[in-house]
Amino acid sequence: MRQNIAAGNWKMNLSYQEGLELVKNLKKSLPIDGTKVILGVPHPYLKSYAEAISGVEGIAIAAQNCHHVLKGAYTGEVSISMLNSIGVKYIIVGHSERRQYYNESNEMIKTKVDLCISTGIHPIYCCGESLDVREAGDHVTFVKGQIEASLLHLSAEDIAKVTIAYEPIWAIGTGVTASPDQAQEMHNSIRGILREQYGDVADTVSILYGGSVKPQNAQEIFAKADVDGGLVGGASLNAEGFLEIANAF
Ligand code: PEP
Repeated sequence: MRQNIAAGNWKMNLSYQEGLELVKNLKKSLPIDGTKVILGVPHPYLKSYAEAISGVEGIAIAAQNCHHVLKGAYTGEVSISMLNSIGVKYIIVGHSERRQYYNESNEMIKTKVDLCISTGIHPIYCCGESLDVREAGDHVTFVKGQIEASLLHLSAEDIAKVTIAYEPIWAIGTGVTASPDQAQEMHNSIRGILREQYGDVADTVSILYGGSVKPQNAQEIFAKADVDGGLVGGASLNAEGFLEIANAF
């Protein structure tokens, strides 16, 4: 019922040419049966990479962020209507790096989720706790709070358009991965929150794990019942490794 997804988040890495080479290399091995590949690439590359994959099954390009206001005097920012006007279908919202370095609040992320939904773009909504929160044993409650604040106002019809990425901050870019059981505990809790509010629709929402996913650990994490794939940073910058991850279901 749920879509398996291998999503890459390139962050602020790769030149236009390096990225295009990577897209072309990935393209050769697509589609992957039962798995959707989504590439979160820098804004300047979005349109031309979307053209590079045009007509190829099982892959989409995503933006890594959008501004929470529709238009106006926000020098250097990119609005959702701009992204919509070039055909973007997915946007990563609420990544912990944006929460941390750009002070994005749950309220602001909720606004971005709403903008995505009203524009017909699928949000890939990120949540996850810091090491302090995990060590205090408050991780499940903390993530529940994030989800309540930014997602649970949506209708059942709209929550089905959201992909959730659980990304414990202590695992992002650190080489420390959550164990498959730790990932499953949180994913199961998130699905339970959705089930309480939306019933069976909870079973249609893909919940991805993010945090130092690599070809070596993807299979055992993706094998967990409530893990529907990964949001992959560093390991998405190499075609061979990322394809291994995308084939790990
Ligand atoms: C991320 O940036 O979303 C991420 C999970 O990064 P990494 O895979 O490098 O930990």
